[in-house]
Amino acid sequence: MNLVEKDLQYIWHPCSQMKDYEELKPIIIDHGKGVYLYDKNGKEYIDIVSSWWCNLLGHCNPKINEFIKIQLDKLEHVIFANFSHEPAITLCEQLMGIIPKGLPKFNFSDNGSAAVECALKMSFQYQYQTGHMQKTKFMCLSEGYHGETIGALSVGSMDLYAKIYKPMLMDTIRIEAPDCYRCSYDKSRDNCNCECFEHAEKAFAEYGEETYAMIVEPLLQGSAGMRIYPALYLKKLRALCNQYGVLLIADEIATGFGRTGKMFAFDHAGISPDIMCISKGLTGGYMPMAITITTDEIYDAFYADYSEGKAFMHSHTYSGNPLGCSAALAVQKILREDNIIETAVTRAKHLTNQLNQTLLDHPNVGEIRHIGLINAIELVADKHTKTGFDNNLRMGYQIYKKALANGLILRPLGNVLYFNPPLIINEEEIDKAVDICASSISVIIDR
Ligand SMILES: *Cc1c(COP(=O)(O)O)cnc(C)c1O
Repeated sequence: MNLVEKDLQYIWHPCSQMKDYEELKPIIIDHGKGVYLYDKNGKEYIDIVSSWWCNLLGHCNPKINEFIKIQLDKLEHVIFANFSHEPAITLCEQLMGIIPKGLPKFNFSDNGSAAVECALKMSFQYQYQTGHMQKTKFMCLSEGYHGETIGALSVGSMDLYAKIYKPMLMDTIRIEAPDCYRCSYDKSRDNCNCECFEHAEKAFAEYGEETYAMIVEPLLQGSAGMRIYPALYLKKLRALCNQYGVLLIADEIATGFGRTGKMFAFDHAGISPDIMCISKGLTGGYMPMAITITTDEIYDAFYADYSEGKAFMHSHTYSGNPLGCSAALAVQKILREDNIIETAVTRAKHLTNQLNQTLLDHPNVGEIRHIGLINAIELVADKHTKTGFDNNLRMGYQIYKKALANGLILRPLGNVLYFNPPLIINEEEIDKAVDICASSISVIIDR
């Protein structure tokens, strides 16, 4: 049996209808270098989706490899209750210098969903222990995505992932999210004053007093199809949360570490959340690691004599894993020393220009939107009414398959194709990816 057959015999792949694999077999990747992945036959693929948005600085990055190798010969893992190690401590010290201000306490876990679960429990317990027992509700935006464990699914709003599990989920208050492409106030991106924020105001007026926290994907609702909204919305939300004593949780799992053109998406708004979740780019996409970061005020509400029972009884076996921390330290060093984010901002302009030139006039391209290096192409059946293609046509998936054959990993979100490449991508690689994307669209749609 060859590897593909054995894979299909054993492996239940994530987020997949396995029957699709009858036609599109799993691609066995042998190695990676920079933005490229290479399969067993030596065929190369541009990893334009950063391997599920986590690869930040290219595959097989020599500096990250070196940091992990050195750590590997010293200590691979240690219980993190009562024990610690230098990589974790140094990492917190370095992160302090780049995260929004006022967030000095770090609670480690091992994946994004776990970091969100931690934030949910932490915010609930904080309110309880500071005398706000009436606060038992949670708010989130429609179309939000925060991971796939039960708590994280409950505060997400995407039916695609959550619908079947509804009876298992906690009840949350959903606020209609900004939808700038299909704005119901007839505003454009440059003349908007976040009129849609009235939905949040209404929800807070009704439920604010009973609500313990609200979570947002700042500026970019990724899984919803790379929906981008203005920083002003976050500023208004910060003020509203303050008014009602609702904790604001920033899910920066997808947006952190330069993806939006600044270190964190909250930096565009110049404000701080009460709790921030980071993962994905944290280790450059090398090791599963996440951190839930918070304020002294929240930390202090758990700090008491043992007998008061106020401790945060939350843990994961791999919390603070030293190999993960060493990868994250390498990422920090590279971001500091190699001008990565500034260069990525310049390359982002080039990418947007190339996409606009090749695709904006296409009759089935409704919008090309961008923030940082993230560029999304929304495909529509009708440009004027902005009506999407029927989901059952699986237009994005057809284009994905075509692009794969041509060496580009363009995994879509429904009818939205997107580029979210490692920040180290260069102009030549961008041009090649845009070419393959454009030709794949035209082969599938114009046929
Ligand atoms: C990926 C993601 C998560 C979940 O992270 P996992 O490591 O996949 O559990 C949560 N929130 C956002 C915004 C994400 O993009």
